[in-house]
Amino acid sequence: MSDLPARRLLLVHAHPDDESINNGATMARYAAEGAQVTLVTCTLGEEGEVVPPHLAHLAPDRDNALGPYREGELAEAMKQLGVGDHRFLGGPGRFRDSGMMGVEQNDREDAFWAADVDEAAALLAEVIREVRPQVLVTYDPNGGYGHPDHIQAHRVAMRAADLAADPGFRTDPGEPWEITKVYWNRVPRSVVIEGFARLRETLAEPGRLPFTKVASVIDVPGVVDDWIVTTEIDGTAFAAAKTAAMRAHATQIAVAEPFFALSNELAQPLFTTEYYELVRGRREGGGRETDLFDGLDGLDGLEGVEGNVSAEQQNGAAL
Ligand SMILES: [Zn+2]
Repeated sequence: MSDLPARRLLLVHAHPDDESINNGATMARYAAEGAQVTLVTCTLGEEGEVVPPHLAHLAPDRDNALGPYREGELAEAMKQLGVGDHRFLGGPGRFRDSGMMGVEQNDREDAFWAADVDEAAALLAEVIREVRPQVLVTYDPNGGYGHPDHIQAHRVAMRAADLAADPGFRTDPGEPWEITKVYWNRVPRSVVIEGFARLRETLAEPGRLPFTKVASVIDVPGVVDDWIVTTEIDGTAFAAAKTAAMRAHATQIAVAEPFFALSNELAQPLFTTEYYELVRGRREGGGRETDLFDGLDGLDGLEGVEGNVSAEQQNGAAL
């Protein structure tokens, strides 16, 4: 496909809503800059809990209609982010949401958690060879917070990156393609702590927020010591797009920016600067990158993009 944009970013997520929470600002920014942004979601999120009471009937133990409904929510979120290329791994409904660790839904034959990693990865490798992304974003090996589908999404994404580059893997989905840079979603601990401090202050003002309970640092996926974070994408200019995308996932998320809550009703900060750990590929210089395409020949620092690490940031990241 020679008509693809020069810069191509692939994100692999477990459920509809994960992309907007983790990477909404990043996706909106790169889409606005003309990069190809491809999202692959592994399940429809059929096992999710439903936040708004008037939609509670969609739940798996009632109408079991959450999957198709969330497809619609995701489509709306993509519209808000300006992302045109969205796919479900193997097609919608191929893999079912597994639910939290230890629940019996994980044993279903079609559960994503029960899927053969190589088989699922082969489906993703086909997408990689078609889209030829230079950059892949997914979760860390613990899926950020231990959810089975997130762990599986990590395994499938990492395996697919290898398969796509392997000349011994099938030839029908196109030429082998090696992804140059692989990132895991992260949040620096200091940023989370500061976010919760702001949240507690705001909550103390009567009537300011629709939330009463506060999550804790361990509820936030991917939190690590600051030095582990290699890359930060300033998506402040795309805050409105990110919050709109999160709002589109109304069955899952209640938003009162700059905060939100999931079905557990525990409020947490909403970040519009998004953070990453580069785990495959080279980092230029010693500071935090500010562009996922940094160091890729001819692709970083494109016109109008503040992609280069400034001296100030390089010094700052030595902390
Ligand atoms: Zn998820």
